[in-house]
Amino acid sequence: MADYVRREYPQWSWSFSRQQTLTSCLRRYYYNYYGSHNGWESGATAEAALAYRLKKLSNLYLVLGDALHKSAYYMVERVLAGKVLPGADFVEEEIRRQLRKVWKSSRDDRDLFLRRPNRVDMLQEFYYQMEVSEETLAKINERIKQVSRAIVASTVWGELGARGVELISCEQFDTFTIDGTPVFAVPDLLYRSSEGSWTIVDWKTGDEVGDNQDQVALYALYVQNKHKVPAEKIIARLEYLSLQTQRQLTFTPEDLMVVEEKARASMKKMRDLLIDPAENIPKSKKAFVLTDSRGLCPWCNFYELCKGELERSVS
Ligand code: SF4
Repeated sequence: MADYVRREYPQWSWSFSRQQTLTSCLRRYYYNYYGSHNGWESGATAEAALAYRLKKLSNLYLVLGDALHKSAYYMVERVLAGKVLPGADFVEEEIRRQLRKVWKSSRDDRDLFLRRPNRVDMLQEFYYQMEVSEETLAKINERIKQVSRAIVASTVWGELGARGVELISCEQFDTFTIDGTPVFAVPDLLYRSSEGSWTIVDWKTGDEVGDNQDQVALYALYVQNKHKVPAEKIIARLEYLSLQTQRQLTFTPEDLMVVEEKARASMKKMRDLLIDPAENIPKSKKAFVLTDSRGLCPWCNFYELCKGELERSVS
């Protein structure tokens, strides 16, 4: 493992999720990418330490998505090893086991989380002492059943096990560059067929939203740029496991140029929020205004940091 190098400011990079955060709320973007930086240090300011802690919070839907992806990764390994795949009951129990584990640490390990937030899985629902309604629990329970059945029934396993198919990556963190900026891309699954087509698979446990297509289009740009694959040879498939539907996308070189231009425009917006782009030094926190869509603030990780300012701004 590389030695830890302390940086006064975080390294500049771009990702699709960073863009989503920027679009959702400038203050959330600030806390997530700047205000929490070095918040893990013993000498951190109180605000940086709190922002770092809050950044670490998860929620039931995120834990479900994470557990599903762990099961999918396990299944990829079994296919590659020529082993029998587990059934839906096995996957469902594994997802439930992981949810129970996070539920337990959230309920029992609050004190440790306050001291060492990187050591404990903590659900936002417990941290903020929000009641988890019967309706939410029923929805999560139903979703666990749906996604377990759907991942086992996915056509991807037959395709991945076919003769001549090569796995390129599975949940592998990778980067490519646009104008010198490192761009993060983590496709759930990427494989190449014997005919030379490249397939990106992205598993979703939630509802279909427009952003999903933009996200896999960015992965297609990554495949084109990093692996030197012509756009026409790339297929992206979104599998909506709880809906039991899927959407397949193909691309032209022009489509991917548009994706690259959108990323550039987003980078420019982010850089406009810096006083020193070379060192990635942000403007003052005031430049990162609170969102106008305040209805969702109580469900935001950083609510504790914003609560006073939100209350003052309405009084
Ligand atoms: S609590 Fe609201 S204003 Fe504060 S970071 Fe979150 S979304 Fe933005």
